[in-house]
Amino acid sequence: MAHQLHFVLFPLMSPGHFIPIVDMAKLLAQHGPTVTIITTPLIAARFRHTIDRAAASGLPLRLLDFTFPSTEVGLPNGCETLETVTSQDLLKKFYVALHMLQQPFEQLLERLEPKPTCMIVDKYLPWAAETARKFRIPRILFDVMSCFYLLCFHTLHVSEVHESVTASEPFVLPNFPDTIVLTKSQLPGLFNPGSLDAVRLKEFRERISVSESEAYGIVLNTFEELEHRYVDEIRKVKGQKIWCIGPLSLCNKDSSDKAQRGDMASIDEIECLKWLDEQEPGSVIYACLGSISRLCPPQLVELGLGLELSKRPFIWVIRGDEKAEEVYKWIEEDGFEERVKGRGLIIRGWAPQVLILDHPAVGAFLTHCGWNSTLEGVCAGVPMVTWPICAEQFINEKLVEAVLETGVSVGAEAVVSLFDEDKRGVVVKREAVRNAVEKVMGGGEAAEEKRKRARELGEMAKRAVEDGGSSSLNVKLLIQDMMEQANNMTPTEDHK
Ligand code: UDP
Repeated sequence: MAHQLHFVLFPLMSPGHFIPIVDMAKLLAQHGPTVTIITTPLIAARFRHTIDRAAASGLPLRLLDFTFPSTEVGLPNGCETLETVTSQDLLKKFYVALHMLQQPFEQLLERLEPKPTCMIVDKYLPWAAETARKFRIPRILFDVMSCFYLLCFHTLHVSEVHESVTASEPFVLPNFPDTIVLTKSQLPGLFNPGSLDAVRLKEFRERISVSESEAYGIVLNTFEELEHRYVDEIRKVKGQKIWCIGPLSLCNKDSSDKAQRGDMASIDEIECLKWLDEQEPGSVIYACLGSISRLCPPQLVELGLGLELSKRPFIWVIRGDEKAEEVYKWIEEDGFEERVKGRGLIIRGWAPQVLILDHPAVGAFLTHCGWNSTLEGVCAGVPMVTWPICAEQFINEKLVEAVLETGVSVGAEAVVSLFDEDKRGVVVKREAVRNAVEKVMGGGEAAEEKRKRARELGEMAKRAVEDGGSSSLNVKLLIQDMMEQANNMTPTEDHK
């Protein structure tokens, strides 16, 4: 007898991870399987509206949560996502809490009806390998990175090319499909010991790598046409099933879904759209540096001054963390908001990013190059001004600059370690911001060429998720594969 498919999805507690998982849940449910997202209460609250809307439209989708052990590990109450982790000490505790999620997750799985037939779990929750063994269901790993990044990671790992250079000495990635020049100071923590607690990271990476090798397959938020050589290479390197099913953000058709994606927006949806409607098509630069990366207040001020200097309309998102107050204060005391009145819209807090990027008035995206944002910029068909800050972002910048050729860098040169932003000060000057904006939005053949390529990539992205497109096909293949696995499964009573 054919099984009823039931996917259980469990994301890491960070917007760049749980936002695409929620999109993926909707996408899978649109194809028939029952989908349950399991998460923690504060994250569930941010998605309740979206999930309720999807369920009310008939999608077999639900959201369950269990308590995040913040207080047990000494985290402040409410510190449940990486956005609120503001020191090395809190980060250590956060990792401990992540490790404690296995038991409550398994208790919930045991009670689920219908019984889960497979699970998609974030790569950063390696204990899920054991859970999958206990429940005897296939575990698919969700990796939030691009294939380009994964191949960079692999190449650095096997070649150790970065070991024989100084921090600022440029090197070329060996045996790589494109010529990619990097420096050690641009690399993520594991390869760049100056940037984080590398020993601890190494241990954690090793656990992830074991859990990855045991996974049934990997699902990625990318599409084959965007980086097909890298998809092919990474399939060879991993020797595992890989399904590229993105861009996942494109599953949000409804404007409320776009506006509330990830959190309630800090600006009224209608007011935001009205402001955009008043601008010329392709004239606005949208500047947002993601959900967890940090720049010090003086550097943020310099970014604002760069936007002012560009003399173009802009939307500037200033995340509402504890440092933002200093920037808000400067905005008022300096008279900045008054000077840019009419052409500068400041969002203090959470922006409805996909709603904004999808508007025809937006002509470029100043981004920190988190993978979701990068892909959302690709979908919007706009060129990018790149300002990587930490983690994998400098590598994503290389993809945009050197492979897709749709971006111009502001010239950030080194990873700013998480929690160390105040030590760095102002490294990117306002003129550099203005110049990079001009190179993607201004006149001249090179800028026009970038805009044209960006438009073409945007069209390609949309075709990938349409019926018959590569990602649409990959979703069907994933579901078919899980159906075959479910039909071969031993009875669910044996799963415990
Ligand atoms: N995002 C948003 N509004 C904001 C900030 C971020 O909607 O004000 C979303 C953005 O659209 C993306 C995600 O949060 O989907 C951030 O993920 P990304 O990988 O770009 O960067 P991270 O925040 O993980 O560094």
